[in-house]
Amino acid sequence: MSRALPNPAPPSHGTSLLSYQEARALVDAHAIQLGKKLPSTERVALGAASGRVLAEPLHADRDQPPFARSTRDGFACRAAEASKHKFLKLAGQSRAGDAPAGPLPEGHAWEIMTGAPIPPGADAVVMIEHVETSARKVRLLPPRTVKPGENIVEQAAQARQRDLLLPVGSSIHAAQIALAAACGYAALDVFQRPRVAILTTGDELVPVDALPGPGQIRNSNAPMLAALVADAGGEPWVLPRTADTAEALDAVLAKAAAADLLLISGGVSAGKFDLVEPALARAGARFHFTGVRIQPGKPLVFAELPGNNPLTAQVKDGTKCCFGLPGNPVSSAVTFLLFAAPILGALSGRRDSGPRFALARLRADAGKRGKSDLTRFLPAFCNFSADTGQLPEVELIPSQGSGDLAALARSNCYLVVPEEAARLEAGAIVRILLP
Ligand code: AMP
Ligand code: MG
Repeated sequence: MSRALPNPAPPSHGTSLLSYQEARALVDAHAIQLGKKLPSTERVALGAASGRVLAEPLHADRDQPPFARSTRDGFACRAAEASKHKFLKLAGQSRAGDAPAGPLPEGHAWEIMTGAPIPPGADAVVMIEHVETSARKVRLLPPRTVKPGENIVEQAAQARQRDLLLPVGSSIHAAQIALAAACGYAALDVFQRPRVAILTTGDELVPVDALPGPGQIRNSNAPMLAALVADAGGEPWVLPRTADTAEALDAVLAKAAAADLLLISGGVSAGKFDLVEPALARAGARFHFTGVRIQPGKPLVFAELPGNNPLTAQVKDGTKCCFGLPGNPVSSAVTFLLFAAPILGALSGRRDSGPRFALARLRADAGKRGKSDLTRFLPAFCNFSADTGQLPEVELIPSQGSGDLAALARSNCYLVVPEEAARLEAGAIVRILLP
């Protein structure tokens, strides 16, 4: 356990901005450390397991498939005999669900349906579309031949009894649920979701059901971050918004200490009422960084709070991670995806918790003219569903900047503009960040 040293003076802005890659490496290293301690577990019914993380290894309870099965409707046969195109007498019939039957006598074929057990002696299945039948006889139509093994999946071809099918830490979705069902798991041990405190700061914010007065805006980050946290496998704990005063921040940080991870929105820029960093310092935070060369999201803070908040004398085990996310909605969303989600994934016991990137082709020129030392993440739309055999095409959503929620809501990914490249040309292969 690393003891967090109180750091009374928070690092000031502009002095130690990390590059995007440096910040990612630092957060990834933390995620690896956090991932070594597995969360507590709970048991859930299979039907409620989607989106959770497997806390027990999933084993095959019997061979998969449990018997050699036909993958086609047709006739089980010996490949060498069928390929001579002579009529073979029918020796029997098997439907899916029938117990294994046979054996297949020489010079015979066996009528078989998809999913039915192959009778011993047969080494291939000819498809019903490829045969000629007459009065309890069947022959493969020339010039077609059949090879041993065709249209048969051998017993245990996918897994042997007791084989490990999914390791601890696997994300559970439809396919994993189907596999668990096939192996007889009616319930699964999963990891408990980490509790994520969502603190929104700003004197200008009113709740969604209140009428904003002059100069006020609705607190849209609280429900947005709650949705992001839930999507990433955490249990959101939304605290009432906090005023931009030292007292209010001290009080809410003390309360939020009960969470597994803290997200604080707003109050981390260089303004007069950006009071989050000093409040974190009073709570004993150790700062990993207080800025990253990215846009949006440059003032992002990553810190670690001690178990014992010096202001409250609460003593808890270990330290906990805390992110100060810049308050602009696009900044909050991007910094969450890039940096907070991987930490949350690690706290969830997930094996694969990094942000997800893909390649796409740029439809039109993007980015600004001139040099930039920032890696940028710009709301964009990618035609993922176009099935053209080419890279999907991506284009920027026209945006008024990091406060433009309407642009964010119309986007389905972020275009990554690397530090060296101020501008990307139409046709270029680019990276996109997936939400
Ligand atoms: P800040 O990071 O506190 O300087 O805020 C930057 C900008 O984001 C300001 O225009 C804020 O009004 C806006 N903002 C901050 N917090 C929120 C929030 N919870 N919901 C919507 N907008 C916010
Ligand atoms: Mg603010």
